[in-house]
Amino acid sequence: MTGGKLQVLATRGNGETGSDITHNAPYIRGLPMTIPYHGKVVVRGEAVMSYADFKRVNARFPEEEQYRNPRNLANATVKLYDSNLLKNRPVAFVAFRLVAMEGLPGSFHKQLSVLNTLGFNVVEHTTCPASVLADTLETYTRMAESYPYPVDGLVVAANDAAYADEQPGTGKFPNKLSGYALKWADETEETVLRDIEWSASRTGLLNPIAVFDPVELEGTTVSRATLHNVSYVLEKDLKAGDRITVYKANKIIPAVDENLDADGAFSKGGVSLMQAYARYLLPMKCPVCGANTSLFESNGTLFLKCLNEDCAAKKIGALVHYAERDCVNIAGLSESKVTALVNRGFLKGFVDLYRLGQYRDEIIAMDGFGEKSYAQLQKAVQASRAPSFVPFIHALGIPNIGKGQAKLLRNWLGEMYPDTAYMDSFLDAAAHGVDFTVIDGFGSVMDKSLKEWLCQNMQMLTELLMELEVTEKPSGNVLSAISGKTFVVTGKVTHFANRDEIRAKIETFGGRTAGSVSKNTDFLINNDVESTSGKNRKAKELGIPIISEEEFLSMY
Ligand SMILES: [Zn+2]
Repeated sequence: MTGGKLQVLATRGNGETGSDITHNAPYIRGLPMTIPYHGKVVVRGEAVMSYADFKRVNARFPEEEQYRNPRNLANATVKLYDSNLLKNRPVAFVAFRLVAMEGLPGSFHKQLSVLNTLGFNVVEHTTCPASVLADTLETYTRMAESYPYPVDGLVVAANDAAYADEQPGTGKFPNKLSGYALKWADETEETVLRDIEWSASRTGLLNPIAVFDPVELEGTTVSRATLHNVSYVLEKDLKAGDRITVYKANKIIPAVDENLDADGAFSKGGVSLMQAYARYLLPMKCPVCGANTSLFESNGTLFLKCLNEDCAAKKIGALVHYAERDCVNIAGLSESKVTALVNRGFLKGFVDLYRLGQYRDEIIAMDGFGEKSYAQLQKAVQASRAPSFVPFIHALGIPNIGKGQAKLLRNWLGEMYPDTAYMDSFLDAAAHGVDFTVIDGFGSVMDKSLKEWLCQNMQMLTELLMELEVTEKPSGNVLSAISGKTFVVTGKVTHFANRDEIRAKIETFGGRTAGSVSKNTDFLINNDVESTSGKNRKAKELGIPIISEEEFLSMY
């Protein structure tokens, strides 16, 4: 940085030349674009992604293109050419070294404090006398386990940076005083691999999971670890009965380290793919639906997939969506729980969610469930039996019919059949082949898509409605947010053709409109909420809420 502005952001690359990634700098968190210092400053740091973001972002990739860990994904992200992609891939810069600056402070601790003052996100650090170094390392080791980012070690450096930098050091004999990296030795345990389970995922891939005799690792009992894909199993030559060592990657994720009984037969070419099926217990049939499986290769890696287009595993995504908060809202029904239930054959569609009671004992015995978690799930399922119309339609995952379209349907049904529950009038309208394109904003693609879906799923929907009560009726309540309220509309509108159209809408819902803001105004609609126009200032003075068009749309 010079002149108080970021000039160049580069990756470390091979240590000699890195790539210029300055274009991505504005999207990397914790990296200031301007600093309150105008001389030249060189800072070194690392791009990191939290476990939570990693999980979310990685899930968007096709399974065979997913990243192994947050570090790989963060590194790939900062090197992207299209900066726009970074908006949905949160990466943070963590500064760990002030490399150059005029009048560089002589103490390491001060250097980091300077970085902090300049606005950088700085790595966790502390200063301590050498006598308590061991205890401090211990404390930081414990902290690492609760860190949202993967951390693989600690660095110890002499606080007298000026003195430390004068010490000799080469690649082979590094200067340990200027920064000595300590990696944690992973706690590894030996155990016996008992089985490889193949868990179907939402795309129909079958993912291997090692099941081994339970061992204590980093304070918890572990008996399972992901094996990623078929190639991984083959390369490690993993067979039931083998002695293996296991550890927790970054102290968190159980992983297989070594197979002590590997003879490398496969990598030496001594095993054909057909023999591999028997040797490594690759399932010929999908554990979920029983259809045939097939091996396929992607970027040099072997995967196993189910060949059945209608495999229940492919409904995992739909089931997860169904349970989401703005859908039917089954709290705590995560993707991993859905996946586990689908894999056991307990869950094939929405209706089965309400019939899990018949598998009570088996579910309680499942990994990741137990008595308490089963009880919570049942409670959440019971609480979801009376959804409102819009979240329910949204939950069904009908192509082209989202929350917005469901709202349009509801409002129209409310006007057409004011005394009937929305769901009943909806089914009635559908049965009579009503052309929903009469609804403003409801296009022919949506109409067609909705009808096709109903045609194919009527049986399922009927069964589902026996488990649920979607009894919400049109009532004044639905409109109360607008009816009787006075609105002032100002500024440009985007969802409506012009301001008159939005005013007409307000009046259909029983609201009033006025030309200027007064103490009788309930809402000022202005997309530029921060505008300093007269109307905005007046509204702020009077404490009248200023809402955007979007917020207005959500009122009905
Ligand atoms: Zn299948």
